[in-house]
Amino acid sequence: MPQNPENIKDHVELFHQPEYQQLFENKRQFENGHTPEEVTRVAEWTKSWEYREKNFERTALTVNPAKGCQPLGAMFAAVGFEGTLPFVQGSQGCVAYFRTHLTRHYKEPFSGVSSSMTEDAAVFGGLQNMIDGLANSYSLYKPKMIAVCTTCMAEVIGDDLQSFIGNAKEAGSVPQDFPVPFAHTPSFVGSHITGYDNMMKGILTTLTEGKKKGKSNGKINFIPGFDTYVENNREIKRMANLMGIDYTVLSDNSDYVDSPNTGEFDMYPGGTKLEDAADAINGKATIALQAYSTTKTREYIAKEWKQDVSVSRPWGIKGTDEFLMKLSELTGKAIPEELEIERGRAVDAMTDSHSWLHGKRFAIYGDPDLVYSVVGFMLEMGAEPVHILVHNTNEVFEKELQALLDSSVFGKGAKIWGGKDLWHMRSLLFTEPVDLLIGNSYGKYLWRDCKVPLVRIGYPIMDRHHYHRYATVGYKGIINLLNWIVNTIFEDIDQHTNIPSKTDISYDLIR
Ligand code: SF4
Repeated sequence: MPQNPENIKDHVELFHQPEYQQLFENKRQFENGHTPEEVTRVAEWTKSWEYREKNFERTALTVNPAKGCQPLGAMFAAVGFEGTLPFVQGSQGCVAYFRTHLTRHYKEPFSGVSSSMTEDAAVFGGLQNMIDGLANSYSLYKPKMIAVCTTCMAEVIGDDLQSFIGNAKEAGSVPQDFPVPFAHTPSFVGSHITGYDNMMKGILTTLTEGKKKGKSNGKINFIPGFDTYVENNREIKRMANLMGIDYTVLSDNSDYVDSPNTGEFDMYPGGTKLEDAADAINGKATIALQAYSTTKTREYIAKEWKQDVSVSRPWGIKGTDEFLMKLSELTGKAIPEELEIERGRAVDAMTDSHSWLHGKRFAIYGDPDLVYSVVGFMLEMGAEPVHILVHNTNEVFEKELQALLDSSVFGKGAKIWGGKDLWHMRSLLFTEPVDLLIGNSYGKYLWRDCKVPLVRIGYPIMDRHHYHRYATVGYKGIINLLNWIVNTIFEDIDQHTNIPSKTDISYDLIR
């Protein structure tokens, strides 16, 4: 029978149709499941302190990790350079995951190739995959640089990227002088932020080799880190332009993940020019906008480039003030009036929303630098962190975060949960409830379960559109953060006060 295309259901409705409902019902008889009463009883028990204690004794199992794989971060760093194709030595399935993860967040194509290692490569090593893969990538996709990283499979076998790439060049896969930086990125250690760091170090090492000159080019290098807000690089550049500063953003992937729809496919939109990246070794100083996704890169720059390297996170009033003062100190340029006016507007917006955030207890999870920056901003607003969960943590970070918490009266009640996952967060939210949860889209399941309003900040955000197009840094970023946070609170209040003449009796139109 011909189908009417008007009746095709999207995913939101499809599985509510009677035929699917019947199918689910029929399937239950083969599942040998527990009774609904038993399922409810256990579900309730998992909300208790008793279960929380058992949950926190868990050591050998991760449930709902709040971190991604190393190669994902490596690919993210690579596409910030002009004409660069990420190449992953390893299995295809991993690379499909990285690409779709990034595409689902940005709603943009994300190119990256895999050397498609299978069983034979697992036994004999992946050299031939590298030789063929580099040759195919070079001739098919015409990149200016191929940045190679690994998946767990190549790391377990012990593939030596440096010698493999050398062999592939000998075999004529790519010209001898063609840049093929590399980074070993095993996902059984670290996370996407480690992968970003490893790849950034690998790319800068390759591009700057032999490029040191006798005198400085006077430029400031910025390293964004694993920052997924496309407007942040643009905001950093706008502020530097307003101050009249000459700079290079090392891995500027904003145009890559936010390319205009012109009707023509461009595989490599934007990115840091390779010659500018190569000349970064002659810069005056380097400022990393994140600390924990740039640790090895900063060590390398300080040691090999012999450059002033610092970390400055321009989030919130204090963070942005410090960033601009650092720029002024390094370059001798004054902070222009335009930025002072923007600061005033941000302070005004904070004052408008302050009474709704002051004293609000919140939980947060995410990457170390993002969590540090948002907590710093929330403390400026008088909000009180309670559960701070960072899966990809380390001791240095926890010490730095604790110092931030100790610096504010609002930080006294916070506890840092390092190395924990989102199933731990669920126990925390049920046993010690909060007013607000801040995190990525995976927090949706915690919101459903625990009913705590979710502010979507972080990566990935796949179930809402366009958040990534806004800035979170600088004075303008403050207004975006406030918009997301305070309006989530209002949305929640409205949902709980929507019974006419019963709960909507108190100034509902004006907040
Ligand atoms: S953990 Fe390793 S094997 Fe699994 S997706 Fe990540 S890189 Fe691939």
